[in-house]
Amino acid sequence: MKRPRIGITTAVDHNNIARHSLKSGYAEGIIRAGGVPILIPNFDEVELTSEYVKICDAFVIIGGNDVDARFYREENLQFNGEIEPGRDELEINLIQKALKLNKPILGICRGLQIMNVALGGTLYQDIFTQVGTKCLKHIQQAPRWHGIHEISIEKTSKLFDIFKQEKLSVNSTHHQAVKDIGNDGIIVARTSDEIIEAVEWRNFKFAIGVQWHPEAMWEKEPIFLKIFEALIESVNDN
Ligand code: MN
Repeated sequence: MKRPRIGITTAVDHNNIARHSLKSGYAEGIIRAGGVPILIPNFDEVELTSEYVKICDAFVIIGGNDVDARFYREENLQFNGEIEPGRDELEINLIQKALKLNKPILGICRGLQIMNVALGGTLYQDIFTQVGTKCLKHIQQAPRWHGIHEISIEKTSKLFDIFKQEKLSVNSTHHQAVKDIGNDGIIVARTSDEIIEAVEWRNFKFAIGVQWHPEAMWEKEPIFLKIFEALIESVNDN
């Protein structure tokens, strides 16, 4: 069987403009799950995303810095963090084009957030300020493979079909989160402090975003590879 080509976005370091980067767990996870990773660099010619949408069968939108709040119709508050000019526009463009063709997308951490923004939703610019002191430890001080908080997964979700568990201990390295859900998305996982930890858009074949980092966990806990396998399997679903 042909191995699906999975486009993976990359981070750009504006303090070191020549460098695009990707943590190894993404590409290695896709290979292990049966796909062929195709890295998508950051570029100014946004229309070039059309070429990647043609080349790739599915996409992983990776984690990273904060989203410029103007993309979700807010001003940047003082506690919004570092942003990567250019990357937001490119990823929003890529997501919208890929979904128009119903190509599967998995968003991870910032990837979930930018998917939500691309579909008209909004974010908390800083959960610790805007949601409050009841927040759990969403920026863990532990190795990235370590699950720091539990999430509750809706039993009627694709995410439950993937993991077959209602409770899952996951890692957490975010200070932002989804606020209002864009375009008929459904919340499918939360922490006990009501922070949204996963969203599915069921009007598409596979459009799932998770707030945690499976790419940093699968090597120690193979169950987390299942979400990469599900993305790849969905390529051949009708
Ligand atoms: Mn979290």
